Amino acid sequence: MKLKLAIQKSGRLHDDSLKLLKECGIEISNGGNKLKSEAANFPLEVFFLRDDDIPQYVEDGVADIGFVGENVVFEKQKQVTISEQLGFGKCRLSIAIDKAAEYKDNFLQGKRIATSYPVIVQDYLQQKKIDAEIHEISGSVEIAPGIGLADAICDLVSSGSTLFTNGLKETETILYSQAVLIKNKCLGEVQKKLLSKLLFRIQSVKRAKKNKYILLNAPNDKLDGIIKLLPGMKSPTVLPLADNNWSSVHSVLKEDDFWEIIEQLKIAGAEGILIVPIEKMIL
Ligand code: ATP
Ligand code: ZN
Repeated sequence: MKLKLAIQKSGRLHDDSLKLLKECGIEISNGGNKLKSEAANFPLEVFFLRDDDIPQYVEDGVADIGFVGENVVFEKQKQVTISEQLGFGKCRLSIAIDKAAEYKDNFLQGKRIATSYPVIVQDYLQQKKIDAEIHEISGSVEIAPGIGLADAICDLVSSGSTLFTNGLKETETILYSQAVLIKNKCLGEVQKKLLSKLLFRIQSVKRAKKNKYILLNAPNDKLDGIIKLLPGMKSPTVLPLADNNWSSVHSVLKEDDFWEIIEQLKIAGAEGILIVPIEKMIL
């Protein structure tokens, strides 16, 4: 029995989805024009689909799990469970208007908003008690104000350059999104086991990305002060150097704390600091 995974056939999530599988030690021969492919070294079958269709396939059980943007999951309102954020495909769903227009609190009241996300936008308008008209369009939403189809748009943004080239400015973000792993609500026992095996690998890869391995040289008389700065998975490793007065200290640092701690380490007397990426981190 195999776990059936749906990923985007082509587009922004395709490469990162395959990359994550690869980092989990799962090799898939590339999609090309194929509808599905099998992993050589994990009981996994991968379906290549349009991202918009993935929640439906997972709800129906055609696929057991899927990698898809949260934005699509919320929009499609299918009966699926989000089980893990995957850390790629980060973007935001934002309102944008003509850059010359003045934006104030009730700007959207009575206006026309073009979007490919009518459900999410309706929800937002309801929460804000705004009465506005939603025009659903499936692509090139950013040109709608320019051709007089709408007064505002709600669309996915990452850098904002598409908005800028279309003479628009971002006014409000209504959703932050990233790729997530969704699963069918009634997986069988075998499927559940395979999924937890996959999730274990995904979590190890994610954890490794958030941490760095650090090696440094410390004069022995300053060792205590330096060790206090380093958390480590348990506690730092200390090894003697050929020079009796010095030691080598190894530890693991969180990416977020990184620059702060490096500075303190230097002040405390550390030298020859090396930072190395971690491939997998198993707790
Ligand atoms: P498909 O043919 O599969 O329907 P698509 O045109 O809907 O493709 P893409 O543009 O490839 O999809 O985007 C897929 C997903 O990538 C989005 O739903 C979103 O979750 C994510 N994404 C990340 N950054 C961006 C961005 N800047 N613009 C659009 N989507 C983004
Ligand atoms: Zn799509």
